[in-house]
Amino acid sequence: MVDHEQLWEKALTELGNEISRANFSTWIKNTTILKEEEGIIFLGVPNEFVKDWLQNKFHKMILRSLRNLDDRIRGVEYVVSKIEDTKVHSAPKVVQQNTELPLDELYVNRETGLNSRYSFDNFVIGSFNELAYTAAQTILKKIGTNVYNPFFIYGGTGLGKTHLIQAVGNEIHKKYSNRKVLYITSERFSVDYLNSVSQGIKAMVIFKAKYRQYDILIMDDIQFLSNKEKTQEELFHIFNELYNNNKQIIFSSDKHPNYIPALEERLKSRFNAGMIVDIQEPEYESRVALLHAKSVIQRFFPPEEIINYLASSIHGNVRELEGLLTGIICQSQLKKRNLTLNEIKPLISNIVKPKKLLSVKEIVKIVSDFYNIEEDSVYEKTRRKEVLRPRQVTMYLLREDFNISYPTIGQKLGGRDHTTAMHSYEKIKTDMKTDPVLLQEIEQLRAMF
Ligand code: ADP
Ligand code: MG
Repeated sequence: MVDHEQLWEKALTELGNEISRANFSTWIKNTTILKEEEGIIFLGVPNEFVKDWLQNKFHKMILRSLRNLDDRIRGVEYVVSKIEDTKVHSAPKVVQQNTELPLDELYVNRETGLNSRYSFDNFVIGSFNELAYTAAQTILKKIGTNVYNPFFIYGGTGLGKTHLIQAVGNEIHKKYSNRKVLYITSERFSVDYLNSVSQGIKAMVIFKAKYRQYDILIMDDIQFLSNKEKTQEELFHIFNELYNNNKQIIFSSDKHPNYIPALEERLKSRFNAGMIVDIQEPEYESRVALLHAKSVIQRFFPPEEIINYLASSIHGNVRELEGLLTGIICQSQLKKRNLTLNEIKPLISNIVKPKKLLSVKEIVKIVSDFYNIEEDSVYEKTRRKEVLRPRQVTMYLLREDFNISYPTIGQKLGGRDHTTAMHSYEKIKTDMKTDPVLLQEIEQLRAMF
């Protein structure tokens, strides 16, 4: 048998062609062949969670690539071994490339609107979302058939609706390159519609044709169509046409269609004729699993004690769990040690505290006081640096914590375009990942709401 290191490097090169970059660097990093005994390869992995994940999701692939290199190999065993013992993989070319290309949150396919970060590989299944997950899997097998068409998924914010419906889109896009997929939020759809209307007949013709060409149309957050009669009417016609041609349509919303205010009856009845499932809040075991999965992705492993503590203190949604974990990781890295439970408690109380009902104006006031700038300047056109950042933070918080639509945010903050709100949101979201000061500012602001 060849040298273990060489063997694993070759296998990794092969695996790198099959597994998406993000997954590859997440799961395969820090693995190494410890030994080989009677055709069984013992693969050292950094923790239990990676072990489960490799075993459940990638085992066949790993075994196949090893067997391709050496047909005496009969099996692979995954062994948790501490990083000190596990030789950190000596970066063959393919791994190096992967670490240089981190998970790009902003990567959105321009044709499909899909973000490749949302996949089934990094989707955790628990009893809270099992029904929705199973339905989604069935759709993948029976795209466009009546029973699951339309597929309507609803649930509170941060519970994984967007992740799940995008994962369906990504899977279809990957498996069936000849099928045209579009992911769009209802807000963007509405803006697109209004723009086309204002540009005259030709633009409308193009608009109508565009949305009728898809084999799979995924529309996120359709609760934002509430009160938008014309957009709803247009959607209704597109829906009928796609449906009659056995095209798959997928919707998400924060509530059951029957409870979306000012939604046309005929749309409601169309939705009710398909498959409606909900996602609930994750229960304790799922929260633990989610925290594990997220720490693997962030490559930082807080002690079990902390994971369990977090899982029992936070009951809300996945986004909050994720946010809290990121905050803890960020501070641990700054302090170069794990946080104590006492240090974590105040972070949790910020999240757990129920949000007050605040108006946009009150939120602007809180943010501008915090940054010590004139409240009015947030609404004005000025692009002075000391105002720009607080304004972006305001937009981010309005969207992330108060679930206000981009057009409304733009309009309320001095009549700006929805794209400005969208851009600000993405900018802060990205910057928070690398800027611990910003992250702390946001945490402190949240504590004031
Ligand atoms: P929603 O659309 O319901 O508001 P998202 O899909 O945006 O929620 O999810 C919020 C965050 O939580 C995202 O970062 C998403 O990747 C993560 N998330 C949600 N559910 C899961 C899950 N089951 N497994 C892994 N990550 C999840
Ligand atoms: Mg969403």
